[in-house]
Amino acid sequence: MKQQYQLYIDGKWINTDDKLEIVNKYTQEPIASVSKASETEVYQAVTAAQKAYKEKAMNPYDRYLVLKKVSELLIENKEEMAHCISIEAGKPIKQAENEVERSAQTFEIAAEEAKRIHGEGVPVEAAPGSENRMAFTIRVPVGVVGAISPFNFPLNLVSHKVAPALAAGNAVVLKPASATPISAIKLAQFFDRAGLPAGLFNVLVGSGSTVGNQMMQDERISLFTFTGSAEIGLKLKQQTGLKKLILELGNNSPVIVDKEADIEKAAANVAQKSFAYAGQVCISVQRLYVHEDVFETFQERLVEHVKQLHVGDPNDPKTDVGPMIAEKEAERAEQWINEAVKGGAKIVHGGERIGALLQPTILSNVHKNMRVVCEEVFAPIVSMISYTDLDACIKELNESPYGLQGGIFTTNLDTAFYAARNVEVGGLMINDASQYRVDLMPYGGVKNSGNGKEGPKYSIQEMTEERLIVLNLS
Ligand code: NAP
Repeated sequence: MKQQYQLYIDGKWINTDDKLEIVNKYTQEPIASVSKASETEVYQAVTAAQKAYKEKAMNPYDRYLVLKKVSELLIENKEEMAHCISIEAGKPIKQAENEVERSAQTFEIAAEEAKRIHGEGVPVEAAPGSENRMAFTIRVPVGVVGAISPFNFPLNLVSHKVAPALAAGNAVVLKPASATPISAIKLAQFFDRAGLPAGLFNVLVGSGSTVGNQMMQDERISLFTFTGSAEIGLKLKQQTGLKKLILELGNNSPVIVDKEADIEKAAANVAQKSFAYAGQVCISVQRLYVHEDVFETFQERLVEHVKQLHVGDPNDPKTDVGPMIAEKEAERAEQWINEAVKGGAKIVHGGERIGALLQPTILSNVHKNMRVVCEEVFAPIVSMISYTDLDACIKELNESPYGLQGGIFTTNLDTAFYAARNVEVGGLMINDASQYRVDLMPYGGVKNSGNGKEGPKYSIQEMTEERLIVLNLS
């Protein structure tokens, strides 16, 4: 039977007539019907958030208790949450379980950080004429945070916005992706059970162009935090004027395999980290720069490892690579492969598509202007590029408009440090692929990959204002 889900506004479950139908992304069967917000509900949610922020502020220790409780509830309900993510997002169940565990950690870290929000001493007495003054800063919440999240981590990317915003003392209005809103609604149920005062967290469901757009226009929201494509991120930046907007955007991660790398380890690692969740991870390996001396050996080992990946039903515990979020996305990716092949690229492995399921695909003989290389592919496709000179390789990979995370495999420390200083990314992994993230680390990109950092400690900095207090002691 199809489940029914409602909006969560001011601590109440709100039913509306307009419904969004959610399908199982593997079988395409309808699984749920979700109430959609109209202008009225968007207005009500922001009103509730603003009122709760002003009237129901929690002290830091109470914020710690609520967030810690949500973390515990996520673990207690891990199986149910993982099943929900797997069905609504088409994510292989073992990766969905990992997402729930990570989300619980995100909440736990945010809970701890709620107790550590502080400013610093400012030595104003060192300025001539200020000898009798003392100063320090405090960090204060911004008010109402508007959060908009993408489909690919429907629980943990929501957690990365909501948990630090609440830890910092803000109220939140969240709009999850229309393809995957159920995980966020279930999270609201946990907040209910954890005793969060009504109105501090609100969930609105509806399209970006209606609900998202109305949120962006609402003057009562003090800060927006958006994770999604660079295209939408740019649109929002043009709309928000002087408002603070944190952007976590797209990417086309580069990974270098140096001639002094441990080839076997690198191949096994890249095979895992290029195709998880069908490559729909913003730090998936996309551009693989391999030194010409080791190109053939690396390619052979990579193909062997990719052949071991289980492709198919996300509900099967063995599955590594499931469907893409929608058939039209898989068709788009297939079209990019065909376009590359027409331009001279070679399919080394994969390439076949059935519905939304695209086989893990490795391309070689690619050119830097092909879309599989220069744009964000967001699909299980990796392009191998041979290089001879590291400096020229880094110059070429830096031509990308994106810069979220990258990686380099090498046993040479000088090479590793040279890359650390010169690859233009928010994070560089040494002897690991680009797709490494734990939830406490600073995470965010440069260039068109966005601005600002996520990771609870860093988000709390973004979601609070520094206020200077000066004491005149004379
Ligand atoms: P998307 O199409 O940009 O959508 C992201 C969110 O924005 C969705 O909730 C969407 O609503 C909403 N939206 C769309 N148009 C809007 C508008 N005009 N005003 C306000 N909101 C609007 O991205 P996606 O396809 O869900 O996710 C994939 C993208 O996210 C990739 O580019 C990926 O790299 C990026 N991403 C980045 C990070 C990071 O941390 N840097 C992490 C994960 C994903 P609807 O769903 O209703 O359209």
